[in-house]
Amino acid sequence: MKNSLEILENMPANQKVNYDKVFQKVRQSWEEDKVRPRILLHSCCAPCSTYSLECLTQSADVTIYFANSNIHPKSEYERRKLVQEKFIKDFNERTNNQVQFIAAPYEPNLFVQMVREQHLENEREGGKRCTACFQMRLDLVAEKAKELGFDYFGSALTISPMKNSQLINEIGLDIQKIYSVNYLPSDFKKNNGYKRSVEMCKEYDVYRQCYCGCIFAARQQGVDLKAQNREAIAFIRKQEQL
Ligand code: SF4
Ligand code: SF4
Repeated sequence: MKNSLEILENMPANQKVNYDKVFQKVRQSWEEDKVRPRILLHSCCAPCSTYSLECLTQSADVTIYFANSNIHPKSEYERRKLVQEKFIKDFNERTNNQVQFIAAPYEPNLFVQMVREQHLENEREGGKRCTACFQMRLDLVAEKAKELGFDYFGSALTISPMKNSQLINEIGLDIQKIYSVNYLPSDFKKNNGYKRSVEMCKEYDVYRQCYCGCIFAARQQGVDLKAQNREAIAFIRKQEQL
């Protein structure tokens, strides 16, 4: 399978990398080699996975890896997990795909401990705490991809205009050196990907959360976490009754 580092080596140095272009070249190599790779794709809730799956399933077999111990409170984690699983089920039914879902253990203490040890509690959203958070989660995805023999690991988060996709791709490329599993660069927001994700959220009636996930950003944003907890619990109970 094509390793994107070979493509990056032939791109002009000292220029902002167009990771969508790199992705398109990797995808072209699959077509030329007549292969359909297996990809383990990280996602932290359904919205970012919508168009990312629509795009990738044209050429690959995809499994979503839900590795998100950053999410607080636990009820909100469970809610996002349920919404992600339901979206995959509905997407498979409507498009005749067979996207799979795997969840990593929920270990919020490890995330909070990592933030405290690095004194990142008061970082603004998009700062060093987020870099560490992406690293922690992509590391888990790479490890799982290696363990289960996937051809690539990647991230659906590059679709979000709120996330630094250059940084996510740089972290992924760094991590691939440690785990000897190919990172799949992407910039899913390109080619109207973000616009399509908003449309798909409406089509599939997907819940869109009002904060990124961690307690630190939620507090900075003034999110009412007690109300959030109540809403999430009510959502989970309703799903259990269906
Ligand atoms: S980046 Fe935001 S919208 Fe995208 S999957 Fe994560 S929490 Fe959801
Ligand atoms: S704001 Fe989002 S990406 Fe940043 S540390 Fe919190 S959960 Fe992670």
